[in-house]
Amino acid sequence: MLTPDRVVRSTCPFCGVGCQVDLKVKDDTIYAVEAPFDAAPNYGTLCVKGRFGTDYVQHPSRLTDPLIRVNTDDPRSVPSEWRTATWDEALDLVADRFAAIAREHGGDAVGAYASAKATNEDNYLFQKFVRAVLGTNNVDHCARLCHAGSVTGLQLGIGSSAMSNSIAEMEHLDTFVVTGSNTTETHPVISLFLKKAVRQNGAKLIVVDPRQIEMTDFATLWLRQKPGTDVAVFQAIAHVIVNEKLYNEEFIGERTEGFSDYVESLEPFTPEWAEEVSGVPADDIREAARLYAQAERAAFYWGMGISQSTHGTDNTLSLVNLALMTGHVGKPGTGLNPLRGQNNVQGCSDSGGLPPYFTAYQRVDDGETRGRFEARWGGNSLNPTPGLTVTEMVDASLTGQVKGMYVMGEDPLTSEPNLAHARHALEHLDFILVQDIFMSSIAEIADVVLPAASFAEKDGTFTNSDRRVQRVRRALPAVGNSRPDWEILCDLAQRVEARLGREASAGWDYTHPSEIWEEMRQLTPDFGGITYERLEREGGVHWPCPSADHPGTPYLFADEFPRGRGKFWAVEYGTESELPDDEYPFILSTGRVLYHWHGGTITRRSKLDDIWPEATVEVSPGDAEKLSLETSDWVRVWSRRGEIKLRVMVTGRSPDGTVFMPFHFVEAAANLLTNNKIDPRAKIPDFKVCAVNLEKTTPPEDREGADVPLDERGAIKDQAALVH
Ligand code: SF4
Repeated sequence: MLTPDRVVRSTCPFCGVGCQVDLKVKDDTIYAVEAPFDAAPNYGTLCVKGRFGTDYVQHPSRLTDPLIRVNTDDPRSVPSEWRTATWDEALDLVADRFAAIAREHGGDAVGAYASAKATNEDNYLFQKFVRAVLGTNNVDHCARLCHAGSVTGLQLGIGSSAMSNSIAEMEHLDTFVVTGSNTTETHPVISLFLKKAVRQNGAKLIVVDPRQIEMTDFATLWLRQKPGTDVAVFQAIAHVIVNEKLYNEEFIGERTEGFSDYVESLEPFTPEWAEEVSGVPADDIREAARLYAQAERAAFYWGMGISQSTHGTDNTLSLVNLALMTGHVGKPGTGLNPLRGQNNVQGCSDSGGLPPYFTAYQRVDDGETRGRFEARWGGNSLNPTPGLTVTEMVDASLTGQVKGMYVMGEDPLTSEPNLAHARHALEHLDFILVQDIFMSSIAEIADVVLPAASFAEKDGTFTNSDRRVQRVRRALPAVGNSRPDWEILCDLAQRVEARLGREASAGWDYTHPSEIWEEMRQLTPDFGGITYERLEREGGVHWPCPSADHPGTPYLFADEFPRGRGKFWAVEYGTESELPDDEYPFILSTGRVLYHWHGGTITRRSKLDDIWPEATVEVSPGDAEKLSLETSDWVRVWSRRGEIKLRVMVTGRSPDGTVFMPFHFVEAAANLLTNNKIDPRAKIPDFKVCAVNLEKTTPPEDREGADVPLDERGAIKDQAALVH
């Protein structure tokens, strides 16, 4: 048995649960990952990604040196040719190019992708560089593509967009609704607590989901709505609650506004009407309404199935309305809980990685707030106009409004919808800088690629889905000449400032991330009581935590909502989604599988890829019979925007007429098919509903005769076994 040289407590780099991990290191290699039994939020549990997936940090294809593109005559051509460079040479080139764009076209001609994989400190400095040095608020990140519908709906209804309640409350739930979240695979450790609530504590679970996800095995009631009809179901539940007078009059009177107008707007949403639209039996809608409204405590948990839609804001508002009318918010075991996807997507938003906000949702167009940031950042005036979102930056690249792009730890050429359009648009840019730990599709078309340190090679903090700020600790030396993102940003900022002849902004001379956190904490009332010393002592603290003697806030809104009274919003049913027709008769829905994560950049470079090495499309047994398909057959799937080839998995998970595809696989990129139509308020694209067609085809040449049947692959078999 190996004896570790050191055991380093850190935070899992995959999903937003934020599990605490002990990294066991021997000879500068992580050889095992364990979970401490005494540490929240996971108390000794880990999923397969956290326990076995961190070997990616030692993958031989890690970037080790700055790279400068050689084939500059056609700067976006692929395959790209590169030469290694020193840090000074690469940073000077980048600074020259960004300074030239800012001088000639203004700072708003630069767009910037912050990173939900990087630390809070990295992201704080990233947005500081973009706002204080380049002079633009064009900074956004992948939250736009996963939970913008939730954020916008929650902001409208209650004025706060984070999970309202903590993970620790889950196993003590009374009644809860899981909707648009395949929790077992996307937030596996959270799903353990939810299942425990049902099996050990007798909680009642209502699942609202078109797919037969594993959570349906634990449900008291499963409402299987047609994809995209969520609003109809939730509004009809509200209709029943009003009709049967199951609402909480006291809470409505004391804590909310707009109820009577909302009640009037509900008139057409009868359960019978909703049955026609969604396929959910009216009696099941009534039963769900009674279960939710009559519970002592009830909570909503949702995922991207609610938010990634052209009506993601309305979907969220329909949940907010239900929580407000029943008073199921502001108490333990209740609330409105969007389960955040990536490890630090909550933290990236909190750190200012969104166009209209500095840290913790302090608006850039508020003069007093801007004044505080200007004073701390060296006195330069800051831009008061909220910037472009990621989806808008893509379109602005095509029109020439945006000319330079800085991408830190993201790959828009995997994650954006309608990838052919995104690639075409980004190819128009004059200059692209990518900073990452591996080459990626966007790095392939960049001008300069800078090698960053992984989570295991740097210090900092991540904030998990329930707003708990936790430490990330350096366990390994940096690979090659790679450097932490925050260090790269400090060197780059000073160079660009010098070239622009600007007054130097304060604070590009940090020696440790704790100094960055300290600056961020002092500018952010919600983080005022969270220090590195305290995190060392307590393991993690939930914001808001305004002072050193404040315990942190595991659940929100005990006394009031950030907007004062919670507001009811009338929601109309309608859809802008691309629906099936004769030419494209199937609905495509996209999502994740247990063994992979996000665009696959890191899980495809871990042992996890041996277990689930390829994209598959789920087809229902009925559709498979019609199309003469069997598991492992190859199909061509095409939409109005592109086509891909991949193998079929026949399962009862998806209903007839709907196919499901994971988005982790660059060689069969689901987003070549998806639609870039967006929710008008949240600007989030519709990743859950678009129209496709499919037909049996022959294997690609390099796979002919070499395929292992899918049902002989352990993981895929396991996953299929979840199906009934
Ligand atoms: Fe990591 Fe999420 Fe798995 Fe926990 S549940 S081990 S945070 S991937």
